[in-house]
Amino acid sequence: MFNSLSDRLTNTFKNLRGKGRLTEADIDATVREIRRALLDADVAVPVVREFAAAVKERALGQEVSEALNPSQQIVKIVNEELKGILGGETRRIRMSKTGPTIIMLAGLQGAGKTTLAGKLSYWLKSQGHTPLLVASDLQRPNAVNQLKVVGERAGVRVFAPHPGVTSEFDTPTGNPVQVAQDGVNEARAKLHDVVIVDTAGRLGVDAELMQQARDIRDAIEPNEVLFVIDAMIGQDAVNTALAFNEGVDFTGVVLSKLDGDARGGAALSVASVTGKPIMFASTGEGVKDFEQFHPDRMASRILD
Ligand code: GDP
Repeated sequence: MFNSLSDRLTNTFKNLRGKGRLTEADIDATVREIRRALLDADVAVPVVREFAAAVKERALGQEVSEALNPSQQIVKIVNEELKGILGGETRRIRMSKTGPTIIMLAGLQGAGKTTLAGKLSYWLKSQGHTPLLVASDLQRPNAVNQLKVVGERAGVRVFAPHPGVTSEFDTPTGNPVQVAQDGVNEARAKLHDVVIVDTAGRLGVDAELMQQARDIRDAIEPNEVLFVIDAMIGQDAVNTALAFNEGVDFTGVVLSKLDGDARGGAALSVASVTGKPIMFASTGEGVKDFEQFHPDRMASRILD
């Protein structure tokens, strides 16, 4: 992911090497190249526009250190602006000081929520937490079973009082809101310090899905609502993120499938258009293919 964006930006900066001082024309040409590279990588148009304007203004203003040569100065500005659109500072989970920390997962079907539930619980467990997974996706065939498998892999308990839909010919029964609530109560009773609630997604954003997610959120009052987005879905990422932001007012973003070879720019736009931080990145199907998201490190990786 981001390889071609990374190459394009690096090449742009190469053209500046050896230049003594940058003229306005040099800066314009460079910003134009950066803008093209971002657009080709699928970064959303308004994000690109703002990004390019900020880089240009800062480069013209020459506010950076005299100790850097012109190409280093531009790299530094682009690095800082990239870090900015990726959310700025690293954002950690807000742990509850009173009962269990409640984390709800939301996103489209296939985004990677169930897989993430396993990864997140494994990661939390490795830090000494005692997570409980709650199977509130009763809609997708075998979602409950999949969560049980994922829980077993992570070595984490799964609360699944309802079997959910087991084949595509099944009609959904059971109440996901009730399951979520019971799951949180179970976590309280059994002294789990974190509870992760997996919820249903649909193939596209729909009103019923959003209402169900909202009902679950209102019933369990989560400390974090994590919106999981498949980084491979391209430009649709932005509209999906905006719909979920409006629908459930999520608190953080998880980029999944960052191991893929998509251009990735749309995923880069999500934090900027929603104003919500990217908190984690999912990089494979395994329970360990997961990392905390650090905007500064990602920016440096893209410009490496
Ligand atoms: P959900 O419908 O949102 O719960 O999505 P799932 O967790 O079932 O994931 C959908 C598919 O994507 C599954 O086949 C997962 O194995 C796969 N998947 C999930 N996360 C990743 C990831 O980070 N990288 C890759 N390559 N595949 C992933």
